[in-house]
Amino acid sequence: MSTNSHSTGYDAIVIGGGHNGLIAGAYLARAGLRTIVLEARDDLGGAARTEQPFGPDFKVTALSYVMSLMPPTVQKDLDLARHGYNVIPMGPSYFAFPDGRSLTLEVGDDADRREIAKFSEPDAANYAAYWAWLQGVGDVLAPLLLTTPPKLASKRPRDLIEQLRLVWGLRGLDVRTTAEATRLFTMSVTDVLDRWFESPQVKGALAINGIIGTWAGPDEPGTAYVMMHHTIGDIGDGQMGSWGFPVGGMGAVSAACASAARSFGCEIRTNAAVDRITTRNGRVTGVVLRGGEELRASTVMAATHPQITFLRQLDRNELPDDFVRDLEAWRSRSGVVKVNVALSELPDFIADPGTEQQPRHTGAIELCHSIEYLERAFVDAREGRASAKPFADCVIPSTLDRTIAPEGCHVMSMYCQWVPHTWADEPDSAELSAFADRVVDGFTELAPNFKQSILHRQVIGPHEMQSEYGLIGGNIFHGELSTDQLFHMRPAPGYADFTTPIEGLYQCSSATHGGGGVTGIPALLATRRVLRDRQRSMMKSKFGRGR
Ligand SMILES: Cc1cc2nc3c(=O)[nH]c(=O)nc-3n(C[C@H](O)[C@H](O)[C@H](O)COP(=O)(O)OP(=O)(O)OC[C@H]3O[C@@H](n4cnc5c(N)ncnc54)[C@H](O)[C@@H]3O)c2cc1C
Repeated sequence: MSTNSHSTGYDAIVIGGGHNGLIAGAYLARAGLRTIVLEARDDLGGAARTEQPFGPDFKVTALSYVMSLMPPTVQKDLDLARHGYNVIPMGPSYFAFPDGRSLTLEVGDDADRREIAKFSEPDAANYAAYWAWLQGVGDVLAPLLLTTPPKLASKRPRDLIEQLRLVWGLRGLDVRTTAEATRLFTMSVTDVLDRWFESPQVKGALAINGIIGTWAGPDEPGTAYVMMHHTIGDIGDGQMGSWGFPVGGMGAVSAACASAARSFGCEIRTNAAVDRITTRNGRVTGVVLRGGEELRASTVMAATHPQITFLRQLDRNELPDDFVRDLEAWRSRSGVVKVNVALSELPDFIADPGTEQQPRHTGAIELCHSIEYLERAFVDAREGRASAKPFADCVIPSTLDRTIAPEGCHVMSMYCQWVPHTWADEPDSAELSAFADRVVDGFTELAPNFKQSILHRQVIGPHEMQSEYGLIGGNIFHGELSTDQLFHMRPAPGYADFTTPIEGLYQCSSATHGGGGVTGIPALLATRRVLRDRQRSMMKSKFGRGR
């Protein structure tokens, strides 16, 4: 299928060596295209990375920390297991509270109900019905994650067919499920949970998925959808909420994607920052690297934040004005801080004493006293201060993956919210450090041995995320998952089908449909689109010649 490539050029250039760029490179090379992936940094993986900031003994998942949403199709197509992809299902979610109580939740089983009854009998009674409701809406919405959004309201025949296909795909909806889906897209997670539960602790536990990576507290409309996005879990098997630790950290996922790409003949270059995307007469012709080297290709796939691609690497006058305005208005805030630590022993919780490894150490461990606690933490940041009492979603992957810490020691990933999102541009390192101290103090209130068990600490704030890892504005998903930035709007109306206003230029970062998260879905759908377009254009030129 290799066509028209100049001897110094390629069929396809992928910009960005995060997991989406690597998966796109793999699919394009697998289809026979002479493909190169260009990564600005000296390492691969983007936000799916393993670092060794504490020396060679410890491996740290510096940014993202758990896998869930990568569809089995991607894993099978790229034979990722053969390239080292191995995800260990994580343990239950554990919540310890300052009053000495704790709550341990798996996913909607009987043991959960007994745990919840410690806080509220009515909540325990409602729990199964709540999960059934969530599953019902999830069953309808999950397939949409793997559907390329059509150009809604376009009257072009091909677009009309795609719109009809979408409507047909939603034929499982009835009046009731449509209403529930509408609620999910428009309500706050607080309002949704208030319909089912009364205990502030239980509601806090169930609200967390609604605020992960979001510049919004649980009271903000739209957070109910974020909760569903993170709850859908393993969409391929239709199983909700199953998350896991990749052996070797998140960087091992990227390494597997890179190895798969190379096995199909894809070239990968690091220290290769793209400066400009070149075009002629509205068609992409290649890229120019920082330093001036030029590479040519008739297909370019941008796997970088869309404000990098469209506002920095192209001239605005090459793009429609309304598209530029949409991209300028793209909201990309989070206020997330990552605190990674190495530990000499496991946390010894007041609620459940003991440093011997127990199931509670092997899953998510939450610093979240209640749903009001979460809202307060956000309100602080919205008012311009880092949370006085931060929220943290913590995991200790070394409890299940012994390849990442020496015997007797552990690594812990503390994903924390919120600091002011403006810190992406105006960092405050003293306040960032004080925020990290408060996270540690908050955890030590629940597990008194925690602070003294810390051997090393790494703190990554919004500024580092933006300047070192290309996460503009510090948003962990290249763009907020608010309802006005989803599906046919992601990242701009008219261009959610992975095309762009420039012919031959495509996009597949987390800011496109199927992202964010380490899902690979944008790369899967975008490369399908590239291959379809190439096939169509080959047919067209053949047909043209035939006449
Ligand atoms: C703190 C944090 C925690 C998270 N936790 C989770 C989690 O637990 N689970 C989960 O599923 N998701 C999580 N996420 C989200 C997830 O990591 C991202 O959505 C995903 O990794 C983004 O992948 P990507 O390939 O689209 O982009 P990226 O990983 O951002 O890759 C883009 C790449 O492009 C490169 N680049 C930028 N500019 C240029 C240029 N000019 N030329 C060449 N290359 C360039 C960058 O260096 C980068 O390597 C988290 C993210 C963060 C930040």
